[in-house]
Amino acid sequence: MKRLSTKDAAVLSRRYLVEPGTDARLADRDTGDTFGLAKPPDAKRLLRETTEVLAEYQRRLAAQDADSLLVVLQAMDAAGKDGAIAHVMSGVNPQGVRVTSFKAPAGVELDHDYLWRHVLALPERGMIGIFNRSYYEEVLVVRVHPEILDGRTLPARLKDAGIWERRFREISDFERYLVDNGHHLVKIFLHVSKDEQRKRFLDRIEEPDKNWKFQAADVRERAFWDDYMRAYEDAITRTSTTWAPWHVVPSDHKWFARIAVAGIIGDKLREIDPRYPTVTAEQKAALRAAEAELRAEDREGSG
Ligand code: ATP
Ligand code: MG
Repeated sequence: MKRLSTKDAAVLSRRYLVEPGTDARLADRDTGDTFGLAKPPDAKRLLRETTEVLAEYQRRLAAQDADSLLVVLQAMDAAGKDGAIAHVMSGVNPQGVRVTSFKAPAGVELDHDYLWRHVLALPERGMIGIFNRSYYEEVLVVRVHPEILDGRTLPARLKDAGIWERRFREISDFERYLVDNGHHLVKIFLHVSKDEQRKRFLDRIEEPDKNWKFQAADVRERAFWDDYMRAYEDAITRTSTTWAPWHVVPSDHKWFARIAVAGIIGDKLREIDPRYPTVTAEQKAALRAAEAELRAEDREGSG
């Protein structure tokens, strides 16, 4: 494939969409899928061309200054969130993008409800916001490790078995509120296999330059792999809505996951279709007047 056309990006985006109302069926999704692309020697060029499209749309989004885009990225450790963000956004003006990485909440964050810190990090109008992990952790890691919930200041009566159902509803309602107020959401789960994660952890141990990325705790977390998959499956199934659907991107091949993420975001921006503001007749007249003034200066200077 020479380049990912508008049509290809739309087909790709649909292929990895979790149709609202259907089961996410993570186990049935091939983490090694590449949309029929063989790693081209020029995968880099394919990615660059796809990200150039994003750069142009970002400029228009900023100029329009009305809609904003929020990209929510979720994944198991070593699935490639950081690399995807770095590569996909590489061509975009840094002033138009804000990345927020959510770690375990601490301090003042724990004095608030779980959505609070995410509201503070929402993109301004005209901006692209990226959540590297998000409020979804509240129905993922917190569900896999219920002791985290025990430690929260939430009133005890609200820590009952119905909490996950309520959170799915709260999250869907929150996302609907965002969409109703001019935000657009792209939610992506980078789907890697347990074996690919093992290889990447080994890589981090074997390659000195990657040692800093290695965390022993991440390896211990592998013991909960199946619990995480169940939690992801349930969360994605229950929160893939018409206004904020999920995409599950096969991520065993990093080069492909990056192209797919860029393609899905590009497809969304195309749907938003931001435009440069049109210049009114009055503004045009002002432009002409300013032009005349500047040209006169030049004549005076040389005359
Ligand atoms: P990387 O490991 O590639 O640097 P990361 O996103 O895994 O990226 P870490 O600092 O390793 O970053 O991990 C962040 C941790 O914070 C994750 O284990 C995640 O589950 C946890 N976390 C994020 N949000 C919450 C939350 N709301 N409640 C509890 N834990 C959370
Ligand atoms: Mg980590």
